[in-house]
Amino acid sequence: MASKHQSMKLNDGHSIPALGYGTYKSEEVPKSKSVEATAFAIKAGFRHIDTAFSYEVEEEVGQAIRSKIADGTVKREDVFLTTKLWCTCFRPELVRPYLEKSLKKLQMDYVDLYLLHYPVPMKPSEELFPVDEHGKSSLDTVDFCETWEVMEKCKDAGLVKSIGVSNFNHRQLERILNKPGLKHKPVCNQVECHLYLNQSKLLDYCKSRDIVLVAYSALGSQRPKRWVDPSSPVLLEDPVLGAMAKMHKRSPAQIALRYQLQRGVVVLAQSYKEKEIKENTQVFEFQLPSEDMDVLDGLNRNFRYASLDFAADHPDYPFSEAY
Ligand code: NAP
Repeated sequence: MASKHQSMKLNDGHSIPALGYGTYKSEEVPKSKSVEATAFAIKAGFRHIDTAFSYEVEEEVGQAIRSKIADGTVKREDVFLTTKLWCTCFRPELVRPYLEKSLKKLQMDYVDLYLLHYPVPMKPSEELFPVDEHGKSSLDTVDFCETWEVMEKCKDAGLVKSIGVSNFNHRQLERILNKPGLKHKPVCNQVECHLYLNQSKLLDYCKSRDIVLVAYSALGSQRPKRWVDPSSPVLLEDPVLGAMAKMHKRSPAQIALRYQLQRGVVVLAQSYKEKEIKENTQVFEFQLPSEDMDVLDGLNRNFRYASLDFAADHPDYPFSEAY
């Protein structure tokens, strides 16, 4: 099936499909699910796949994409693939080796987008979350601007088409943009963004700097036990969202995704269920009137599902800033 989806232009001339399939997997889910669901997402029409070294599913995601290339559904150039550099690999000498590790796992020659996953560096380690002898996160002192310079070299070497960041606040974006000798601007900032945390200030800031905002957990997150308080509100059960969905004869998930597209945000959606994956591709078939967009704006309560506080003691912890 050819993609009927919209794309957005990136500041380096490439384009990004406005809807992406998310591949974060919590520990409880078997890895085989990642292969099946990612392959199904491509079959259903997704042309943008978001993964990361730290999700530990790059092999499975690569396998799924290659299976859809092999059966003729897509060519490599039809799929926009993102992966991310983890915090333990921020020392400049580790950047390219870890990108090459990701490419090897994916069995790909390049990725379309490579992101600094989170602005806080951790000490090099085989563990994703290394801790010191007191059980506290082993945080490092690398300046992410130095890491960025190697990201730029990876782009120039053709290993990645575009480079960007994730979980950065506006001051941290500013630091990269003001870096002396900057060669490539970040094309995007991928952040938690949904009806309860609509990131309107960060979005305005990103737009003013020609940086695309990519929304993760746009459906309220998978609520992994490790990161999300089980008593936090369930986004897709919001009554206002539910009533609007009923009125448009759409699902709450479709309204939540459509909201992001209409405000110029690239949006990710995760699911392992075929029905939901299909449903999530059908967000280019309808429009929300501006009154509904205003109502949805009104649901914002600056509520963050995952505050990623393993790094809260670091000066580069991003979420102490308002945006
Ligand atoms: P999400 O997209 O917010 O989805 C949350 C849950 O919504 C799914 O697990 C699914 O649960 C449910 N859902 C999906 N479609 C639905 C539908 N049509 N109807 C009803 N329910 C539906 O989840 P997320 O994984 O937090 O975020 C998406 C992606 O963003 C991730 O997979 C990852 O690629 C990326 N991400 C990036 C970062 C970062 O730090 N950069 C952090 C988090 C996530 P059920 O299957 O149980 O229905």
